[in-house]
Amino acid sequence: MTPLESLNYAGTNGRLPVHIELPHELEQMRAALRKFTDRELEPLAKIVDATGELPAATLPLLAEQGYLSMRLPEGVGGAGMGLFPYCLMLEEFSRSHRIFALIAGAGGGLTPIAIAKHGTDEQRRKYLPGLMAGTLRTAFALTEPEAGSDNSAMKTRAEKTRGGWLINGRKHYITSADAADFLMVMAITDPEKRTRGGVSAFLVDRGTLGFQITRVDTTMGSAVVKLSELTFENCFVPDGSVVGNVGQGFDLAKESLNDGRMGISCSCIGMADRLIEMSIAHSKSRVTFGKPLAERQAIQWMLADSAVELATARALTYETLRQIDEGKDIGTGASMCKLYCSEMVGRVADRAVQIHGGMGIVKSYSVERFYRDVRHYRIGEGASEIQRMLIARDLIKNGL
Ligand SMILES: Cc1cc2nc3c(=O)[nH]c(=O)nc-3n(C[C@H](O)[C@H](O)[C@H](O)COP(=O)(O)OP(=O)(O)OC[C@H]3O[C@@H](n4cnc5c(N)ncnc54)[C@H](O)[C@@H]3O)c2cc1C
Repeated sequence: MTPLESLNYAGTNGRLPVHIELPHELEQMRAALRKFTDRELEPLAKIVDATGELPAATLPLLAEQGYLSMRLPEGVGGAGMGLFPYCLMLEEFSRSHRIFALIAGAGGGLTPIAIAKHGTDEQRRKYLPGLMAGTLRTAFALTEPEAGSDNSAMKTRAEKTRGGWLINGRKHYITSADAADFLMVMAITDPEKRTRGGVSAFLVDRGTLGFQITRVDTTMGSAVVKLSELTFENCFVPDGSVVGNVGQGFDLAKESLNDGRMGISCSCIGMADRLIEMSIAHSKSRVTFGKPLAERQAIQWMLADSAVELATARALTYETLRQIDEGKDIGTGASMCKLYCSEMVGRVADRAVQIHGGMGIVKSYSVERFYRDVRHYRIGEGASEIQRMLIARDLIKNGL
């Protein structure tokens, strides 16, 4: 049996491979997540859209259900679940609004996982309970004005001083830094070695002297997601703020690369699923020239193309997740998923807007918000060009 055959392709409606049937416990989890998203998150999404702010109740609500601790190891109070269930949660939350997937990363993103795996007992005690309870938020700061796709051009320095480190430099495009209680900041500690063992990860609390948020940008996506510029001027952090060993920073980031890319892939799948659902419903109810849109071949072809692409994205992504949770080396599989899913959802969103006509571009209906939000995914967490570069390098070196 090939790996792909090992997944049961009978759809939930018994016909189409768009809904891949998962093992029983994942199917149960998906059903619970769907119910929770529809009942609890959808009303909050409307408030987010109306105000541009995240309702205060959101994080405690996710924490109460255990959604902020499912990926963290049992030893630190988490549920120790694999990447597949975590990504399924991001998929379902994204059907409502991308912000919910973003904040769910508080318990499964790079920073909490790095602290859980490599942090000191003191760091675990200080940060993890708050992240799991939804009372603390965090952000990850790597990108700089002159170091985006090419992180090796990074300039932010941390120099050793008595009892700690002095950080100097600037970061930008840092998601949710404006709302974060603490950040994990990457800085060069050995200029000779740079990204080959010369970068370290520091935990910097909000309000630390010498650390300032110098600009907050809203983007073309939902106003609730903000990207910040951070400035460090002789910012002192104690020795105890280094995560893992000095010089291990880039390795920590690399360890979470697959998680981040798979999480984005599933968010894109969730958004595409919802957009197609809305497009089918609209095409059945909207009548033009005496017939529903659903009876027009031009509309049918858009629906068909979107469904085929969604099915392809799910098959690739779920199979990759299964292999990751089985501990297999997936090579650049996560790059393939991130590349395909982020480009797929862009095409699906474009067709959804077209099918909805005027309703697709007015702000009182969520299609236009999805259309704007999905554009981020082709840039953040390694842009499409970088994913193609990584996949091609892997192919040329190792073959198919
Ligand atoms: C929504 C969003 C959230 C983000 N959140 C964070 C965050 O929380 N923390 C953080 O550290 N960073 C974050 N980033 C930054 C993100 O990682 C960078 O934007 C990304 O790595 C690209 O860097 P850049 O913007 O400097 O573009 P550049 O590196 O300047 O690239 C510009 C364009 O050129 C292409 N390009 C670059 N090099 C090559 C090449 N060699 N060959 C072909 N094409 C190339 C790129 O693919 C891109 O299309 C976020 C970005 C976005 C969009």
